[in-house]
Amino acid sequence: MSRELRGTPAAPGVVVAAPWIYRVSPPGDAVALPLADASDAAADEIGALAARLRDGGRESEAEILDAQAMMAIDPSLHSAANDLIAGGADPDRAILEAGEAVAASFEAMGDEILAARGADVRDVTTRIARIMIGGVAPRLDRRSVVVAVDLPPSVTVELDRALLVGIALEGGSRTSHAAILSRSLGIPAVVGVDGLCAAAATVSELGLDGEAGTVYLEPDAGTSLHLDRAARTSASRAELDAEFAASPLATADGHRVTCAANIGEPAEAEAAFASGAEAIGLFRTEFAFAGRATAPDEALQAAAYAKVLRASGGAEVVFRLADIGGDKPIGYLRIDPEANPFLGVRAIRLAERHPDLLPTQIRAILRASADAGQRTSIMAPMVADEADLELVLRLVADASAIVADAPVPRVGIMVEVPSAVLLADRLAPRVEFMSIGTNDLTQYLLAADRSNAALAARQDPLHPAVLRAIARVVDAARAAPGCEVAVCGEMAGDPVGAQLLVGLGVSELSMEPRAFGAVKRAVGARALPDLIALATAAQQLSAAAEVRRTVESAS
Ligand code: PEP
Ligand code: MG
Repeated sequence: MSRELRGTPAAPGVVVAAPWIYRVSPPGDAVALPLADASDAAADEIGALAARLRDGGRESEAEILDAQAMMAIDPSLHSAANDLIAGGADPDRAILEAGEAVAASFEAMGDEILAARGADVRDVTTRIARIMIGGVAPRLDRRSVVVAVDLPPSVTVELDRALLVGIALEGGSRTSHAAILSRSLGIPAVVGVDGLCAAAATVSELGLDGEAGTVYLEPDAGTSLHLDRAARTSASRAELDAEFAASPLATADGHRVTCAANIGEPAEAEAAFASGAEAIGLFRTEFAFAGRATAPDEALQAAAYAKVLRASGGAEVVFRLADIGGDKPIGYLRIDPEANPFLGVRAIRLAERHPDLLPTQIRAILRASADAGQRTSIMAPMVADEADLELVLRLVADASAIVADAPVPRVGIMVEVPSAVLLADRLAPRVEFMSIGTNDLTQYLLAADRSNAALAARQDPLHPAVLRAIARVVDAARAAPGCEVAVCGEMAGDPVGAQLLVGLGVSELSMEPRAFGAVKRAVGARALPDLIALATAAQQLSAAAEVRRTVESAS
């Protein structure tokens, strides 16, 4: 008999695979190694992986890895890195930069196969750099549902995508960063499953239904049949949504709303625009700071940001300043452990203790903007009041004075701290846009930690209190000519949430591109006056579940 455990649905899709239990192994867990030894170790790791693939009859993939193992010990790569080290670069940064130069030269040749080799070089140098700083690599060796208490985004990204077919977490909520990443990667996920790790350790197979939020331990024949059916339903819904993905985001009576994408890495920008994004409404720039031994310098950041601008073809890109801290700690910033990191020294609050962090980042954004000849949008996270806004405006003005050839950026704030909602009438006239971060706004407004699975039911942005807060921000923006309101929290990618947001008067919805189809289908099914009526009525209800039922059942 299979047993089932209930959690919170986090990313759609249904899969059955072996459980792979991830245990935390932070950078520094293994012994840090110098470049030459780390390169040998990387070659060994890759060689072992190739041997495993070969054993499984996957010869062509094994050959790719053989080539990677050779790259790891390539003398020219090492001498380039050693030159950079001699010039004062940090050793792990040096190998990354040397790899980047080789990869870029492959890519410049305009040949698909050589460009893929460029990606391979990057993969190899990332591995070497990780070994140099004493990080331990998690590795999957078969199709797996990854099981963990929490899964850091850096780990998710490092796992072999061909083998990572599902994610099941004991902790987390729909808006925790692991859940957001699994949706953007299209990996079915369930989070907040009590007792999962201990239970999964005793079975050889897990079934996962990312829509129902259920994990099945050792599915029996009956359960497998059920999962099969659920997988087919999920696939046909995805097909239907896909038909809408290319159409404009508009209500049935033609009211247009900007359809923007949330991205977490430069490489996602191109796919976002190819999926129909009209803008990047939220570029989470934290990626540039994670998984490193030292802070990225201005040139490195500028190069990464330029990639996104190149992919945008002139469309708006909103660069959110690094939102570090909370559930996204960065080792080298040495943020002291805090009892309540979400209420702690997070995002722009780091400006005081790390005075170079934001100025460097803003200059990098402006340099990319100057190079591309394209105006950018800079968005500050966690702005609580006018003093925070003044800090950001000052930093942008200082950076603009230095990078004088950059077009003047649009400056906006995230509205995610409740005080910013109450002060929206004071903030709106001083910015060009406000983007409501419903993930944090919900956790702060309802005092429910977004990473605490026990509070999953309290983290629903459809809660009437959140809807009222959004209505207040929209009102403040309407009274401030030139200030637009977007939503970039996960609510924008939920078809029910999106309908309410359009009804509340939000003019841009920014979400993971995979949600485009479902959101366009839902918003396009109703006329604007109906959505306004629904959003108005929803604010008078008493619970999020009631709001969802009301919207879903409205005729
Ligand atoms: C939010 O808080 O809604 C948001 C979009 O930012 P993040 O999820 O990165 O905190
Ligand atoms: Mg946030």
